[in-house]
Amino acid sequence: MRRWTPALADVQRLEPLHFFDSCYTNFNLMATKKIKRKGKNWKKFWKLGAEEFNTQFLDISKDGELLANEGHHVYNLYDLARKYGTPLQVIFPFVLEDRLKDLIGYFQAYIKIYNYKGKFSYHYPMKVNQNKEFVLPLISEGANLEVTSANELWIVKKLWEGERFNSKIRVLCNGPKTDQYLDLIEELRGKGMNIVPIIEGPEEVDRLVKYKGDIGVRVDLSIKADTHWDKKFDRFGLSEKDVLDLSRIKNLKIMHYHMGSQIKTQKSILEAVKHGFSIYAQLQKIHPSLDTLDIGGGFGISHEKKKFYTAKVVSSNIVKLLKTLADKAEIKHPNLIVEWGWYIVDPAQITIYKIISKKLIPKANAKAWYVIDGSFVNDLKDTWTIHQRWHTIPLNNMQDPLWTTWLAGSTCDSDDKYTAGGNYILLPKLHEDQDQYIALLDTGAYQDGLASHHCLLSAPMKIVVKDGTVQIARKRENAESIGKLFGWNGDHK
Ligand SMILES: *Cc1c(COP(=O)(O)O)cnc(C)c1O
Repeated sequence: MRRWTPALADVQRLEPLHFFDSCYTNFNLMATKKIKRKGKNWKKFWKLGAEEFNTQFLDISKDGELLANEGHHVYNLYDLARKYGTPLQVIFPFVLEDRLKDLIGYFQAYIKIYNYKGKFSYHYPMKVNQNKEFVLPLISEGANLEVTSANELWIVKKLWEGERFNSKIRVLCNGPKTDQYLDLIEELRGKGMNIVPIIEGPEEVDRLVKYKGDIGVRVDLSIKADTHWDKKFDRFGLSEKDVLDLSRIKNLKIMHYHMGSQIKTQKSILEAVKHGFSIYAQLQKIHPSLDTLDIGGGFGISHEKKKFYTAKVVSSNIVKLLKTLADKAEIKHPNLIVEWGWYIVDPAQITIYKIISKKLIPKANAKAWYVIDGSFVNDLKDTWTIHQRWHTIPLNNMQDPLWTTWLAGSTCDSDDKYTAGGNYILLPKLHEDQDQYIALLDTGAYQDGLASHHCLLSAPMKIVVKDGTVQIARKRENAESIGKLFGWNGDHK
């Protein structure tokens, strides 16, 4: 599981990264000078319209405004920000659909090419973004689901009861199983759902071996992945020793592992597959029903828009590796499950703010604070918890001269800021007669579930753009609706 506030030591471990970031920003500054001379190619400068940066659908108008393209539909995001107000989250379901379609396509193609005998399935980890506007389009593209709690499963139950599912969809249940969670799993199995609880701890074994459907087991692999979340001491799943000590379980179908989010290298992903397979092969001898390997989530994308491994290459290498390993071990090619959440949903949302104040900074890496009409601490919590970087671009005046800024949120917390790790963010100078808006790209993963209401600021309004239309998915919160969350129900006595 991905989400835990990091200890100070973890944050410090992140620091060496900043070295690369400063290279990146300096490169940007050099690029600015060159571009000013040439007077063009701002699209390239802001890293838009590029598949390698997951911005292939974004573009700049001739007036320097941010555009999103869905086929031949064009949305002017600056116009939308002025029409609907800020803070604003814009959701692009077509981005989700394209990404998932491509991913499933890659795996299916390589399975054919390498003559791999196992089946591939994608399971969407709901915790990455539980909003309806994310979950429904992914199901349409053929996603199965993975849930982490009884409450997430309750949403799945409501969908199931509304007969909005193909009955073949499979739901994996991770996380510690409370009685309420187990009861719901049993209830849905009884109603005919293909629902597979994954053993998460030793005390779940006795109860789940009695389960009438397929079950899985999560293994805490002894190797480490190159990610911020792969802790020295993990607590998820059974240790390799404990899992290999389990006596034969007749309905064990899936061996699952999850190394953590935003894995930095392809090598790390493949090493986990290799090591995971070695456990799988041993386990398969004890439990002949085992036929599926679930490699969890963790596929990264780069917010800094640096060169990164690609799904096309990694999917090919995973299939090739599993085939080689299974042939060598002389066991059936396992069915493969992938739960890459962040990779699929992160680029499908952007967050837009208006700059409401400017304050000069005397001696720092940046010349001025820009204060936004929202909050990093509330709306983009990863800025705070893991020092997340955001690809930040102007929404208007995209071809203007730039200067160095730091961004500040509107809460009273001095940590409510984004400084790109103490470097700077390049943004246009402010105009007297025109509001300046900014967009932070790749905000679709995790931020909503973590969001909060410090200083009782309103969460961003949500709009969905698709098929050439714009729909309000969630209205802007007002004082009354926020007050209710804190028990202020009308008569304030
Ligand atoms: C969080 C999680 C995922 C998703 O991880 P990403 O880094 O978003 O791909 C998948 N599987 C499990 C079990 C998780 O806990």
